Amino acid sequence: MKALWRGLTLACGVCGGRNLFRKCHIFAMVDDCPRCGLHFERMEGHSLGAVAVNTVASSALVLVVVIFTLLINGTNTATSTLLMLAAPVGVLFPILFDSVSRTLWNAIELLMRPPHVGEIREEFRRSKVR
Ligand SMILES: [Zn+2]
Repeated sequence: MKALWRGLTLACGVCGGRNLFRKCHIFAMVDDCPRCGLHFERMEGHSLGAVAVNTVASSALVLVVVIFTLLINGTNTATSTLLMLAAPVGVLFPILFDSVSRTLWNAIELLMRPPHVGEIREEFRRSKVR
């Protein structure tokens, strides 16, 4: 849970280190954690997981907006009304959630595949590290 919380709060899943995004470009993550040294692109195609996290979260939020609109207005709600409410959410949320999806995916991936010896600096290794 600690790693997931760190991921949700834009921190490194291993050490909780911050400043993981380049100052001039909020959507560009640094290659390695400045604190523990974890290389974030741990295997080729790693970032696709962040895209999947973002897509699932965005789709779920759009679905929630549609369901709440239908619950409040009834099933006779015009399609244009649903689009006016759900489309901005579907466009803006993925952009705003992009950074979180990257750090959250890193945390999820760390839980599925703990870091190997040598991937992080020695002071951040624990007994769970392979
Ligand atoms: Zn770190």
